[in-house]
Amino acid sequence: MVVIMRPGTEKKYIEQLAEQLRQEGVEVGVTNGVGCTILGLVGDTTAIDQGKIELNAHVERVMRVSEPYKRANRKFHPADTVVDVGGVKIGGGNFAVIAGPCSVESKEQIVEVAKDVKASGAKLLRGGAYKPRTSPYSFQGLGLDGLELLVEAKKATGLPIVTEIISPNLCDEFEQKVDVVQVGARNMQNFDLLKEVGKLSKPILLKRGLSSTYEEWIMAAEYIMNAGNANVILCERGIRTFETFTRNTLDISAIPSVKEMTHLPVIVDPSHSGGMRRLVEPLTLAAIAAGADGVIVEVHNDPAKALCDGQQSLDPAQFGQLMAKAEHLARFMGKRP
Ligand code: PEP
Ligand code: MN
Repeated sequence: MVVIMRPGTEKKYIEQLAEQLRQEGVEVGVTNGVGCTILGLVGDTTAIDQGKIELNAHVERVMRVSEPYKRANRKFHPADTVVDVGGVKIGGGNFAVIAGPCSVESKEQIVEVAKDVKASGAKLLRGGAYKPRTSPYSFQGLGLDGLELLVEAKKATGLPIVTEIISPNLCDEFEQKVDVVQVGARNMQNFDLLKEVGKLSKPILLKRGLSSTYEEWIMAAEYIMNAGNANVILCERGIRTFETFTRNTLDISAIPSVKEMTHLPVIVDPSHSGGMRRLVEPLTLAAIAAGADGVIVEVHNDPAKALCDGQQSLDPAQFGQLMAKAEHLARFMGKRP
């Protein structure tokens, strides 16, 4: 962090501020230029409050030269993080496909979809038991019963399960039953939830918030990691833009950019990005070409009757066709599907 003092600031005020910053645990170098003095802060500046320094009447400008995140930062952890979910690896050259319905609806539905997606090569099963819906009148998910049905589907297929948590109160239940705990886009900045899932032993799939910057998203991962959980998978799921034709706009640039900024695996959700079945294949292929470490795709055994997101769900046959292309392209990109 660099602090530029106002021209002509008396030496005593410069020394006062330098001392105040040293008290906060960083080294401060003072450089006297022509008519202007610069303080260079060296050390861990993540906890230094930039706004507080700017309040000092003798300060002209404060600039951060390093990122405010440490644990998620590739600079301090150059090697890719590989998240291991019961033997299924994500990141570090390992490509994984997560597939399943938007919501768990019945035992027959979830077990049937689980068998179908497994047969096509999916490595993990998704399915929402707790659904964060825009309308309180929409299907809210089967809750605890839904979790039990996911456990049944895991028993039937061996596929580890990925499902969304919407409240810190559910942590114990999720710790016991779930293999990957999903934090949805709407909860990306639910800081209490992030701190609590940070205490779980299970990997966290952290979706990007609807209007969040890369830095805000990585800072959300930093919350989880700071609470003790280093196994975070980031998921780009489309963002809000002025375009209304698609449900969201898939931010392809996020994949190479965020992978440069962090060592965490980055996967893509082509279903919630485009919001249309016919966009799932092109968006999946684009994501793989841009370096994604995996995708999470909505698949339903009867999309027309789905209780949630049928319009963007593939049927098992369509998913099978997608998988053939996706695996081929992932290999071409040097990944291990
Ligand atoms: C989901 O994956 O079912 C979901 C609700 O996604 P998002 O949080 O990205 O909207
Ligand atoms: Mn959905």
